[in-house]
Amino acid sequence: MSKSALITGVTGQDGSYLAEWLLGQGYRVYGLVRRSSSPNVDRIRHLLDKITLIPGDLLDDNSLVKALEQSAADEVYNLAAQSFVATSWNQPIFTAEVTGVGVARLLEAIRKVNPKIRMFQASSSEQYGAARTTPQNEETPFHPRSPYAVAKAYAHYITINYRESYGLFACCGISFNHESPRRGLEFVTRKITHAAARIKLGLQSELKLGNLRAVRDWGFAGDYVRGMWSMLQQPQAEEFVFATGECHSVEELVATAFEHAGLDWKQHVVTEASLLRPADVEHLRGDATKAREKLGWRPATPFQQLVHKMVDADLQQVRAEMLAGAARG
Ligand code: NDP
Ligand code: GDP
Repeated sequence: MSKSALITGVTGQDGSYLAEWLLGQGYRVYGLVRRSSSPNVDRIRHLLDKITLIPGDLLDDNSLVKALEQSAADEVYNLAAQSFVATSWNQPIFTAEVTGVGVARLLEAIRKVNPKIRMFQASSSEQYGAARTTPQNEETPFHPRSPYAVAKAYAHYITINYRESYGLFACCGISFNHESPRRGLEFVTRKITHAAARIKLGLQSELKLGNLRAVRDWGFAGDYVRGMWSMLQQPQAEEFVFATGECHSVEELVATAFEHAGLDWKQHVVTEASLLRPADVEHLRGDATKAREKLGWRPATPFQQLVHKMVDADLQQVRAEMLAGAARG
C-alpha cells in the first residue's frame, strides 16, 4: 500500500509545494487545516480532489491525535507556524504557543498514536540570527533575534529532545528563506514583486520598505520541499541545512524585480521607519554541503530566475484581477 503523509500548514506556501511533490511520489496526502470563517485554500485549490483535509490546530492537542489516527500517517511534515517575523513582536505569546509549544503537542501526539511515525520539523535560518560565523551550517550556534526565532529554537530543541528521549524518528530541516509566487504578501520578496506589478499596471506609485541593507540567502520553495522529503527517507534522523549559499541585499532584490518590470526602483521606493524591526537579522548565508553530500540535494533555481518568475506571476495575477474587476463593472 502507498505511504501516507500528514502535512500541517498545507494551506501555506511550502505545504502546497510539498503536497504536489508527495502526490508525485505516490503518497496518500492529508492536510491539517484550522477553522476559518471562509475557506483559505487558494494555494491548494488545484489539489483538492487529490488530498484529504482534516480539521485541526497546533493549539489543540486532541485534534492532533485525531488527525494522526485518521491519516494513519507514516510521515508527518510540521510546516504549520505563525511564520512572519514582524508579527512575532506584536504577538509573542501566540507565536510561542503555535510555533514553539505546538511542536511539543505534535510530538506528544505522535508518541501516543504511533511512535514509528517519521516527523520533519521546519526549522529556520532565523534561529542563527546574529550569527557569529558565515556561512551557517548545522554546527553554527543559534542567536535568535525575534520572538519567532526564539519559538523556532524551542521547537528545534524539543524535536531533538524527543528523538533522544524516546527514540522517535524526528528531525529538523534548517531552511534559509525560500520564496515563490505563492509566498505570503507581507514577506519582502513578494511584497516587492507584487508592488512592481501593481506600479507597472498603474495601480500604485509608491512602495514603502524598511531595512534595505538586510542580506538573505533566497531560494525557490519548490526546491526546498524535496529536501524535506529526502530527510525522512534516510536511515537515521538528523538535521540538515537547506540554502543556496548565495546572498543578496533587499536593495539588490528590489532593483532586480523593478528592472524586470521595466521600472526604475529609485523613482518608487521610500523607506519607512515603522517597517524597521526592533532587532533585525542583518546577514544570513547558508552552507548546504551536508544536504548536497548526504541527500544529493541541490537548489535548482538561481536568484535572478526566482525574482523574474515572481514578477511575471504577479503581473499575470494583477492583470487577471483587473480584467475580472472590469467585467464585474
Ligand atoms: P506560511 O506562513 O505560508 O504557512 C504557514 C501555515 O501554517 C499555514 O498553512 C497556516 O494556516 C498554518 N498555521 C498557522 N497557525 C496554525 C495553527 N495554530 N494550527 C495549524 N496550522 C496553522 O509558511 P511557509 O509555507 O512559508 O513556511 C512553512 C514552514 O517553514 C513554517 O513553519 C515556517 O516558519 C518555516 N520556514 C519557512 C521559511 C521560508 O522562507 N518560507 C524559512 C524557514 C522556515 P492558515 O493558512 O490557516 O494561516
Ligand atoms: P524573514 O527573513 O523571515 O524575516 O523574511 P522577510 O521577507 O519578512 O524579511 C527579510 C528581510 O527584509 C528582513 O531583514 C527585513 O527587515 C527586510 N525588510 C525590509 N523591508 C521590509 C518590508 O517592508 N517587509 C518585510 N517583510 N521585510 C522587509
